[in-house]
Amino acid sequence: MTKIVETKSKWNVDFLEGLKRVKTNRVVLLYSSGIDSTATAILLKDRGYEIFPLFIRYGQSNGEVESNLVDKGATHLGLNKVQKVNISNLADLCQGKLMGGEAISDKDAWLPARNTLFLILGGIYAQTVDADAISIGYGIDDNFVFGDNMLVHHQLIGVLMSFSLAREMEVVLPIKNMNKAEVTNIVKSRGMLDMTVSCWNAKWQNDKIIVCNQCANCVERNVNLTMEG
Ligand SMILES: [Zn+2]
Repeated sequence: MTKIVETKSKWNVDFLEGLKRVKTNRVVLLYSSGIDSTATAILLKDRGYEIFPLFIRYGQSNGEVESNLVDKGATHLGLNKVQKVNISNLADLCQGKLMGGEAISDKDAWLPARNTLFLILGGIYAQTVDADAISIGYGIDDNFVFGDNMLVHHQLIGVLMSFSLAREMEVVLPIKNMNKAEVTNIVKSRGMLDMTVSCWNAKWQNDKIIVCNQCANCVERNVNLTMEG
């Protein structure tokens, strides 16, 4: 007679527990102080979420500016303290002009699977703080630039993290139907424009932000601000 060996079943137990999980209305927001993540924070707040901002330092050229501004924005909106994680030795694996150099075009700003990585880090933090969801500032204008910033990509992350964590993990995208001008207007109308940075090459000097006025993000920001008057 064959002896029946007990099969490992931790995931099954976790999955059944996960089905009974009570929602907390908490969300982890990938927060960079850009226009998109700031508008996303505003809309999540309006929807009544308790927000856990996550700021990822990956060696970005404007990192000091972003790090200062996320603290200001979080205080202004009454979010939880910004959790900051430093993965700047990512440069050991891949390099790009976004990391320490000067980025001008979208092509310069490409870092392989950056948003994939960030969302997974968001999912790990969401598990720690018992959040229902992860959120990222993703709008209509983001489509067709990078594969890791497309609607289906973000939906797949929700499926992947739900499987990996054996519990439901939503990805909420409050600005997915909005263009940059609409998103800019939300931030502007709430008086948060000076708590945001768009420039990939921005530097923090004497408590002031110095932007390059040349990169694709600077150009886009200037166009949208002009359009809104
Ligand atoms: Zn710039």
